[in-house]
Amino acid sequence: MFESLSDRLSGVFDKLTKQGALSDDDVKTALREVRVALLEADVSLPVARDFVAAVQAKATGQAVTKSITPGQQVIKIVHDELERVLTGDTDPGALKIDNPPAPILMVGLQGSGKTTTTAKLAKRLKEREGKRVLMASLDTNRPAAMEQLAILGAQIGVDTLPIVKGETPVQIAKRAKTAASLGGYDVYMLDTAGRLHIDAELIAQAAAVRDVANPRETLLVVDGLTGQDAVNVAQEFDAKIGVTGVVLTRMDGDGRGGAALSMRAITGKPIRFVGLGEKMDAIETFEPQRIAGRILG
Ligand code: GDP
Repeated sequence: MFESLSDRLSGVFDKLTKQGALSDDDVKTALREVRVALLEADVSLPVARDFVAAVQAKATGQAVTKSITPGQQVIKIVHDELERVLTGDTDPGALKIDNPPAPILMVGLQGSGKTTTTAKLAKRLKEREGKRVLMASLDTNRPAAMEQLAILGAQIGVDTLPIVKGETPVQIAKRAKTAASLGGYDVYMLDTAGRLHIDAELIAQAAAVRDVANPRETLLVVDGLTGQDAVNVAQEFDAKIGVTGVVLTRMDGDGRGGAALSMRAITGKPIRFVGLGEKMDAIETFEPQRIAGRILG
């Protein structure tokens, strides 16, 4: 188990306050604890460093040293700063789906939870916004993945584009567009092929699909437990495909959520949703406050 940052800081400040007024050095000691807590929460080193510098600037300005509860004051500054960095300027849950049929492109590595997330979002759009959604799997390399989407679709009552053998992903994307227009769908979701690693073919395929579909949203699905790897994947996908948001999956796991902070700080891309389990309802819009609390422990 992790020791929570609150406990850690209380410990540090308890010791310090017994010696009288706090000095700048005392605050520095506390900030070292903040840094360790961030690193333990899987925040990358440069992000943790910058973050602590920002907190230090604020702590100095806010006369933490004169406070009777300096530990609480530092925690509040850290919490507010975490929320500030994590909060984007768009409403994470508001997908751009006007002008039907609106294409949503789903990209990510194999095993990240892309197909599951596609179905979860389709269900959400259907139930919360009353949208008619069509889902299509473009994973021509893995027939099982195409089947998986069809099975999930049947389970949640969302249509999937019939599977036609021998088509290329671009052909499937075009067929999905036509079917969505003719069928009066509001949204069509394109679940692209994933691979274990980013390679030229994966990117070329996703880019070709993007070019024919002209998606309103391109959502990158990444495994929230993979920490810095998730951030690297996001940087590469964004540079090569361009993404409008990130979905962090497996946030129901043991991770402390630090990947969210690194993701936001390094890629600048908003986190839109978090996956919280295997079930079709296990998805929520990203809430900076909750993740901040989780990182702090
Ligand atoms: P894909 O290869 O990226 O399409 O990944 P899948 O959608 O097939 O998901 C791979 C596995 O991860 C499946 O067993 C999913 O049920 C599971 N999974 C997906 N999202 C989550 C999540 O948020 N939490 C947990 N615990 N499991 C998830």
